[in-house]
Amino acid sequence: MNEQSTREIWKAVLGELQLQLPRPTFETWLKHTDGVSYDEHQFVVEAPTSFAVAWLERRMYNAIQKTVEKVTDRPLDVVFRVRQGHEAENGSVTSSGQTLELESGQDEIQVKPQAQPPAAFNPKYTFDSFVVGPSNQLAYSAARAVADAPGKSYNPLFIYSGVGLGKTHLLHAIGHAAASRGLAVRYVTSEQFTNDFITSIGNRTTEAFRQRYRSVEVLLLDDVQFMSGKEQTHESFFHTFNDLHNSGHQVVITSDRPPKALALLQDRLRSRFEWGLLADIQPPDLETRMAILVSKAKNLGIRVGESVIELIAKRVHKNVRELEGSLNRMVAQAELMSEPITVQSASRILEELTADTERHAIDPERILEAVSNHFRVGTDSLLARGRTQKIAHARQVAMYLLINELEMTPTQVGRLLGGRDHATVIHGAGKINGEINEDTHLRRDVLSIKEAIFA
Ligand code: ADP
Ligand code: MG
Repeated sequence: MNEQSTREIWKAVLGELQLQLPRPTFETWLKHTDGVSYDEHQFVVEAPTSFAVAWLERRMYNAIQKTVEKVTDRPLDVVFRVRQGHEAENGSVTSSGQTLELESGQDEIQVKPQAQPPAAFNPKYTFDSFVVGPSNQLAYSAARAVADAPGKSYNPLFIYSGVGLGKTHLLHAIGHAAASRGLAVRYVTSEQFTNDFITSIGNRTTEAFRQRYRSVEVLLLDDVQFMSGKEQTHESFFHTFNDLHNSGHQVVITSDRPPKALALLQDRLRSRFEWGLLADIQPPDLETRMAILVSKAKNLGIRVGESVIELIAKRVHKNVRELEGSLNRMVAQAELMSEPITVQSASRILEELTADTERHAIDPERILEAVSNHFRVGTDSLLARGRTQKIAHARQVAMYLLINELEMTPTQVGRLLGGRDHATVIHGAGKINGEINEDTHLRRDVLSIKEAIFA
C-alpha cells in the first residue's frame, strides 16, 4: 500500500486519539509515532524508543487498535516497533551509524559497530532531570564522574537500591552522556545478557557474542540480581568483565542489593564487583520528594500548587516511581475534567490509588490464571509434568510473563511452576522472548493476556 495513504490513516488515527487522551499522555507517547505500512493483516507503527513501544503495547493497544479499525474500516492488528536506525533493540546494532559513515566517503571509516547511538537511551533519563538529594548524592556523583572519564575513576561502579529509586535512570544518563561524545556504549539488562549468551550458544555464534560485548568502551549492566543461577553465563560475564577492565574500559552495574548479598553469584565475580565503588541509593527524604515532584510537573508543563505537592510527597514515600505515578494520575484526571488540581481532588485520587494498588496488585496467581484462561488449559497442568505441546507452550508464556511483569528470578519461577529447574525457565522464557517479535499470533496472545492481567 502506498506510503501516502498509510501516513494519512495514521494522521487521522492520531487526530482521534488526541481527542480521547489527556494531553501529556498524547504528547509524550503518541506525538512522535509514525504509521509506516499496512497490509490486509496489520498496521505497523513506529515509535522512537523501545520504552515507547513497550508503553504503547501495554497501555494503548486497545485504544489504538480500535481507532485504526474505525479509520480503515478493517479488523487490523497493530504492531509497534522501534523506528529503524533510531534505537538498537536489545542492544543490537543499528545500521544507520555505519551507512552514514560510509556515505560520508571518509577514507578511514571508523565503524564502531557495538555502539548504541544516543537515541538508544531514554531521553527522559538524563543527569539534568535527576533530582539530587542526600539519599542519592553518592550514586549521582559517581555516575557523573564515570560518564566524564570512563575507566578512569571508579571501575566498576556498582549502584544498588530498592525498586524505583533511579538506578536505571542513572545508567541511561551515563549512556546518553558517553554516547553523545562518540564513545561505544552498550546498555543491557542482565536478562538480555543471559538470553543473548544462551542464544549465541544455540546458534554457535559465541565468537560474535564475545566481540559484541568486549569491544565496548562503556558497558552498562542493569539489574544484575537477575543473572542468578546459570554458571556458564557468570563465567562468560566474568571474562567479559576482565577483558573490559584490563583494557581500561568502564563497567557500571546495578542491583537491588549489595554484592555480598547476591547469594547466587560466583564468588570471584562478587569480589570483582567490590573492586571499584559501591554506591547505594536510599529512599528520598521529604524535601527531595517535593523537589522531584516539582521537576516532574515542570516537565509535564503543568502547574501544581505547593500544598498539593506537599500532600503527595507526604503520602507517597516508598519510591520515586510511585511518586511520579500519583502525579501523572492527577494530571490526567485534571485534564479530563478540565479543572485544576486541588488539595481535595488530589487527596481523593491518592485514596483511590491506594485502593487500586490493593485491588490490582498483580501476583503470580493472577498471571497463571490469565494464561490458563487464554490457552484453555487448567492452571494445575501448568504446574504439572504434562508435556503436550499446547501445555508446554502455555507454560513458556507464563514463564515469560512472570519474569517480565513481576520481575521474578528464573529460580523463583521454576519453584512456582512445580519445581522446575531455572535453566528450563530461562530457556522457556527466552524462547518466547525471541519469537515474539516475528510471530504475530504469539504477540497477539501475549498482548491479550497482559490486558487481562492489567485490566
Ligand atoms: P530503578 O531502576 O531503581 O528501579 P528507575 O531508574 O526506573 O528506578 O526510576 C523510576 C522512576 O523514578 C523513573 O521514572 C525515574 O526517572 C524516576 N526517578 C528516580 N529517581 C529520581 C530522581 N532522583 N530524580 C528524578 N527522577 C527520578
Ligand atoms: Mg531499573
